[in-house]
Amino acid sequence: SIEVTGLNKKFGDFVALDDVNVTIPTGQLTALLGPSGGGKSTLLRIIAGLERADTGSVTIEGVEATHLPAQKRNVGFVFQHYAVFKHMTVAKNVAFGLEIRKRPKDEIEHRVQELLKLVHLSQFAHRLPSQLSGGQRQRMALARALAVEPSVLLLDEPFGALDAKVRKELRDWLRRLHDDVHVTTVFVTHDQEEALEVADEIVVINEGRVEQVGTPDQLYDEPANDFVMSFLGEVT
Ligand code: ATP
Ligand code: MG
Repeated sequence: SIEVTGLNKKFGDFVALDDVNVTIPTGQLTALLGPSGGGKSTLLRIIAGLERADTGSVTIEGVEATHLPAQKRNVGFVFQHYAVFKHMTVAKNVAFGLEIRKRPKDEIEHRVQELLKLVHLSQFAHRLPSQLSGGQRQRMALARALAVEPSVLLLDEPFGALDAKVRKELRDWLRRLHDDVHVTTVFVTHDQEEALEVADEIVVINEGRVEQVGTPDQLYDEPANDFVMSFLGEVT
């Protein structure tokens, strides 16, 4: 699991996270859901090790990670504007993390083939990212994040920039991928429907505070407060 305890984060005087305590269970697909500016990305970045909290701790699958840099946390991440390497083929992009870890060449080749199959991009291995659709590019980014076998996969609005139809496809696809791979996955969204349809568990975040944690059914049947009720009620 990911254990977040007593997390506080200010930007100047502005309180971005206010005593956040949450447990994200191993092997599940968990959504961080809430309105814009609520603190979702800040929380995800702190879990990833890309941002430091002022106080509090983060434990990832039993490892005390609070003071570990991102590259030592065994997390894979896909952020919305996370750059792909434009001059490298799809296969090279996916191989990158393995190459910097100096894995043997035949192991890398095998693993890349396996990953491209998983994200249904085998026939695009030798294309450049610019020759892919937006959804295909996001799938490539996911394959790249999975390449180093992270214990945790962190996705910040991975489908945010895409049109509704592609979003829906990728969302279903993420669900299936997760059912295959079972890696502990946290994805950020401000889309209630997306969270309710895809996630095993939802963490509702608003104004830097966790309003509720529960399954989609629990949130729907027993919203903890007026905020959760009205926010979920905005589903059309
Ligand atoms: P969105 O859905 O719009 O992405 P979010 O829930 O991801 O929103 P965060 O990006 O975590 O929200 O931001 C939380 C609050 O902290 C916002 O009010 C934001 O303006 C502020 N904030 C985030 N990063 C910084 C920063 N580097 N400096 C100052 N304020 C920041
Ligand atoms: Mg955000």
